[in-house]
Amino acid sequence: MAFDQSHYPSPKNVLAARRLHPRKRFGQNFLTDPRVAMRIAQLVPAGAHVIEIGGGTGTLTAPLAARAASVTCLEIDRDLCAVLRERFDAMPAVTVDNQDALTYDYATDLRSHRLPSAVCGNLPYYITTPLLERILELGDLLDCAVIMVQREYAQRLTAKPMTADYGSLTVFANYFSELEKAFDVGAAGFYPPPLVASSVIRLTPRKQRLLMPETEALFLKLVRAAFGHRRKTLINSVLAGSRGEMAELRKTVQDALSATGLSQTVRAERLSLTDFCRLAEELVRRRVAQGGI
Ligand code: SAM
Repeated sequence: MAFDQSHYPSPKNVLAARRLHPRKRFGQNFLTDPRVAMRIAQLVPAGAHVIEIGGGTGTLTAPLAARAASVTCLEIDRDLCAVLRERFDAMPAVTVDNQDALTYDYATDLRSHRLPSAVCGNLPYYITTPLLERILELGDLLDCAVIMVQREYAQRLTAKPMTADYGSLTVFANYFSELEKAFDVGAAGFYPPPLVASSVIRLTPRKQRLLMPETEALFLKLVRAAFGHRRKTLINSVLAGSRGEMAELRKTVQDALSATGLSQTVRAERLSLTDFCRLAEELVRRRVAQGGI
């Protein structure tokens, strides 16, 4: 049967009927094509418990509710919560919660559902990074996250070494999860159209950390320091960000680079996630005091 868009309420009409307007301060650019929403929903595990970030007028909530066992729909805008409650009133599997997704207690929600779990959302772009941090810190409580982000942001998340987009965000996100870009959505797919294009990303948190806790702490500092001065060599970036005994630290980093088979003049942009992990292991082995980097 042909797809009939007239069965799906348009966000513009839903808002107009209530004399509401999209609120810029909440990053409100609503998906207009239900087929795009369905494609996004298909990326979450069937029968999962899903926490949706920013339900809006429910364009994505509807296909999520059809695919998932249950949906907690977070929405910061009270007026939109009223819209969502009315729309999903007859569906007990959908809970609309007037909450800030940045401070929501995801762990308690996920633990209370003994099901595969997913976070999904057409994210309000102004809070992408802190939201991503909240998602990544859930670790093995979460099976997958499917999020729409600004296209440039997606490029940074999935960048390869030696490209301009490759940076600490790429390394951190790939350390905590496996990432894939699912598809792109142009600005015309939203009401109102944003100034930027968007991409849908699927993240699968790693069930096992790649490094031991002590090494991980040093890895996080190392990556931050290494990309703190992109144009410097890795050794000079590390030294620039440290307060310890410089000559000793220089020697330790030089030795760790040699042991890892990396050049003494290498820059951060050349190092893969595996290189950074191996370098952190070598540094820990050489007992670099963590305050030193
Ligand atoms: N999911 C809907 C769609 O695709 O049409 C709306 C997406 S719109 C880009 C982002 C939604 O997130 C808006 O409804 C906005 O009110 C909501 N929002 C913004 N900041 C939020 C926050 N901190 N916590 C929860 N929801 C938020």
